[in-house]
Parts: sequence; structure tokens; C-alpha cells
Amino acid sequence: MDRRHALAHLGRQAAALALWQLFGPAQAQSPARWPAHLGDPFTLGVASGMPRADSVVIWTRLAPQPHAPGGGLPPQPFAVRWELAEDERFSAGVRRGEFVTTPERGHAVHVEVPGLASGRPWFYRFIAGDAVSPVGRTRTAPADDATPGRLRLALASCQHYEQGWYAAHAEIAERDLDLVLFVGDYIYESTNPRHRVREHEGPVPRSLAEYRARHATYKLDADLRAAHAAHPWVLTWDDHEVENDYAGDASPSGLDPAAFLRRRTAAYQAYFEHLPVSPSMAPRGASMRIHDRFRWGRLAELWTLDARQYRSVQACGGAGGRVLSGCDEVADPARSVLGTAQERWLAEGLAASQRPWKLLAQASQLSDSSIATPIGRRLYSDGWDGYPRARERLLDAIAASGGGNTLVLGGDVHRHVAAQLRQRPDDPRSPVVAAEFVCSSVTSRGLSETLMGAIRASNPDLLHARADERGYAWLELTPQAAHCDFRATPYPARSGATLHSQARFVVEAGRPGVARD
Ligand code: FE
Ligand code: CA
Repeated sequence: MDRRHALAHLGRQAAALALWQLFGPAQAQSPARWPAHLGDPFTLGVASGMPRADSVVIWTRLAPQPHAPGGGLPPQPFAVRWELAEDERFSAGVRRGEFVTTPERGHAVHVEVPGLASGRPWFYRFIAGDAVSPVGRTRTAPADDATPGRLRLALASCQHYEQGWYAAHAEIAERDLDLVLFVGDYIYESTNPRHRVREHEGPVPRSLAEYRARHATYKLDADLRAAHAAHPWVLTWDDHEVENDYAGDASPSGLDPAAFLRRRTAAYQAYFEHLPVSPSMAPRGASMRIHDRFRWGRLAELWTLDARQYRSVQACGGAGGRVLSGCDEVADPARSVLGTAQERWLAEGLAASQRPWKLLAQASQLSDSSIATPIGRRLYSDGWDGYPRARERLLDAIAASGGGNTLVLGGDVHRHVAAQLRQRPDDPRSPVVAAEFVCSSVTSRGLSETLMGAIRASNPDLLHARADERGYAWLELTPQAAHCDFRATPYPARSGATLHSQARFVVEAGRPGVARD
């Protein structure tokens, strides 16, 4: 054998050994059929995500008693069948398979179904013994070279379970959409006794079992399950999936980095187990790559960004968000929100993209929301305002990308925002290079009207900024224009609330700025 063949042979041996290590013990303890006496395994519903031109991810997690140890399951593997078809009756184009899930993954099931026709709806379900899951509906993206007439999506974030009912998800579930884009604060680890209409189970999560229980609480909401079952989701995260205001390995609660990374490991693992992300995104220790890129034919390209895992610690006082004025450290060019590697990856992607709509989905508000005072601007250190050089690099990359429109989409701040993005914020002579839409929270409460008035008065590039209502943003992109409808309700604490259009905005193709629609 020459060296190349010897290496290939060794590679095969290693692969066989790895496979044995993965599946050997599971085979020794062969996957059990679903024992009916354990109850309904599909209490957490079904979901799909990551729509590609030829594949989609379908998800469930077996948990007959989501808040019992092990989800109410014995610590052994279980076999689950899945089916995906062109129609709701599962009579045409049916694909099926079996997935063996284990206690190590919380009995979660992630199947990336390959080889699908592009640009069409699909239906899916899971079967364990006699138990059949609800039917989910999903969709593949159009082929990369197709010319779809539109992309319709719901932009949502910040769904504190205790602070309201998911009227936004009830509406999203009923709408004709291509995808849901969720940009962070999927769970809240923390409790706020104010505005509490229902309660989290158990304590603030720190262990894997506790984060699993917290995710289960959210998934037990019928409106959230309905929104997952109705559309494919594309996700990124913010801070509350782990801990409020964390930055990389730095914890605001004062844990040392090693201890915090153990907590982050548990949080990322539970996040993976409960969301319809690709099986290849399974965390490795304390790391999970969530930033990604999607395409919608020739119409749009979407980058999902990770603004937490690689970020520099907040300025002037260590980890944690705080109101700052006169902090020179914010302007240190070494400070980053995305981290060097992700910044470069995004800038290269933007420069190479030929599509007319470039969507940047990230957790927070990119436009300035600091407040002018006689002694200088007061800013909140956890947002992009606390990382002005990183923001300039991102705006420079957008400006350099040339051709097409960039829309920055965000959440986190619990307010509907429409803004012009200038290459240099706060400089009226600087050109507008992009438009921004930030969705209000599904439930989480926002800033007072007094503070919002000061923010609006200090930032003329904010065309709209209202924190008094909860909801989501509906977006429709066509070759001609991007329309944004801020859906909202003032009554998140009333179950069955309906939403109204708070304001509508438009971005015309070929013009970077945003205007009232
Ligand atoms: Fe939030
Ligand atoms: Ca947040």
C-alpha cells in the first residue's frame, strides 16, 4: 500500500471504530419499541427548519412527561419512525425512515431529509409504537437558480413565558408564510415577578436537566407548538438561552470562565435538543456553530449571525449590560460582537452575493439608540451601541458589498423599529447604506414611553420605535420591494388577544433607505 492508500485504509478503520463507538453500545442495548403505557411521546410537538433547496430538517423530542426525570423515559434508546410526503394524507411522494434516539440527546429526534424537490410544501409526522405525532407542514427553498416571485417571513424574538400569552404565534400559525425567522431569547432563564401571567417551572436553570425542563415549559404552549408545526423556522440565539447579557465565556453573575462554560455547555445542548436545527450542528462541548447562510432562489440571501458566543466582554465594568457615558473603552477597535472569524466570513459572503436582497438576521438593534445628554451620549453597553467600531466594520462591509439591498433584521430590544442605517451612524452627511427592521417581543416587556421618547428625539434615523406593544414583524420581499408590517397587541396579558398593524414600511429595490408604506 502506498502512503495515500494506507491513510485511506486507516481512515476507514477509524470511521468503523467511531461508528461502533456511536452505535455499538446502542445495539448491545437494542432500541426499544415504544411501550404504550409510557403515554404520549409527542407532548412537545413537532417542528421543522433550515429549509434548503433540496432538504429540510424535521424535529421532535420524545417526552411523555416533560418535567419528570428523563422526560418520563427510562435511560435507553428508542426507535422512532418518520414520514414526509407531498400531501397531508401521506399518499404521494412519501419518504420514510427510522431514527434511533438516546438519553444522551434527551431523546430528541433531528432528521435532515435529503433529495427533496425544491420550492414546494411538504408534510411530516413521527410514529412511535401506536402513537402518531401531529402532522407538521414545511417547505423547501426554491432552487438556487429559480426566480421566486416573493419570500414571506415572520420575524420574531423574545418570548418570556411568564410575561404573556403567545398571541403572535397563534397568528403566525394561521398565516401563509415561507418561514419563521426567530432571532433570539427563545427561552428566558430568569424570572421577573412583574407582569407575571403564568410561571416557569422550577429554579433558574444551570444544569442540563434544568435547561431541558425550561425548554419543555415553552414547548408545552399550544400556540408556540402550532407556529412550529405550521412553518419551517430559521433561528439564531441571543443571551437568555444561556444567561442574560453573557459575552463569550464571561458571565455577569461572576462565575469564572470554566464554570460558566460548563453552564453554557448545558444550555447549548438543551437548545440543540429542542429546536429544528441540522443534526450536524450538535454542540461540541461548550461550542455550537449556529451562524449560517440560506438562499431563496435568486431573490434573497440570508445570513443568521451569532452575536453572543464570540463577543468581547461589555465595556467599562466587565460582563453585563449597563448604562454608560464617557466610556472610552467602547471605541477599542479590538472589541467585537461577532468575533473575527465570523466578521470575515460575513464580509466575504456579502461581497460575493449577487442577489438583490441580502438579509442579516442578528439578535439586537444595529442602529443607534443612545440618548443625547448635556454631558454626552448615554448608551446601553450590551447592544451594538457598546461596540461602535464593530458596528462600523459591519456597515463598511454592507457598503462595500455593492449591488442589491441589505436589510438588517433584529430583536432583543422589545420594540418595533424601522431605521435608516448610515455608514457612519449619527453623521447626517454619511450615506444611507441599508435599512433596519427590528421586531418587538412576542411577550417580553419593553422600555417606558419616557425613555422611548428620549431615544427617538436623540436619533432622527429611527423612523419608528415603539416599545408599548408586543408582536412580530411580517415581511414580504419581491423583486420590486420589501414590505414590513409591524403586527402588535397592547394586551399580551390577555389570552386570545388579536394583533393589529402598528405601522407599515417599504424598501424599494435598488434604493437603500426605508420609507412609510
Ligand atoms: Fe429579550
Ligand atoms: Ca436579549
